Amino acid sequence: MYCPFCRNADSRVVDSRLAEDGSAIRRRRQCPECGRRFSTVETTSLSVIKRSGVGEPFSRGKVINGVRKACQGRPVSEDDLAMLAQEVEESIRASGVAEIDAHEVGLAILKPLQKLDQVAYLRFASVYQAFESLEDFEAAIAVLRRDSLHGSSAPAVAQGR
Ligand SMILES: [Zn+2]
Repeated sequence: MYCPFCRNADSRVVDSRLAEDGSAIRRRRQCPECGRRFSTVETTSLSVIKRSGVGEPFSRGKVINGVRKACQGRPVSEDDLAMLAQEVEESIRASGVAEIDAHEVGLAILKPLQKLDQVAYLRFASVYQAFESLEDFEAAIAVLRRDSLHGSSAPAVAQGR
């Protein structure tokens, strides 16, 4: 790897540290030519296989672009989108796969998007799960209602004597 300061082709590792979740190694390097230090981060590659069969590196930016349209007019900030993309990448990496179908990336987006904004979730799910009728929407809304009931009713029940 080239030194980013003087473009020398050689560098020496002075420290290596594993990221907390074990998904990356951060190395501190020193250039023997100019003596300056810089960091590199090493992660396993994660490929997304497109419908055409062509693989490309996983990109948080593509996740964000895919979700942004569904979030139009919704109270969702750029920070929310960045967090969602990070969550999607972490959940895919945690599954330990080196390759994933583009369609499965879409499915991995559904869960964090449901937490973020239910309307955006329904828009996105209608495309990714190929909703064809009002019944498909009604079924998805029923699931959302059930999930939000589960979330709020549990503490009240626990208060009995
Ligand atoms: Zn240098």
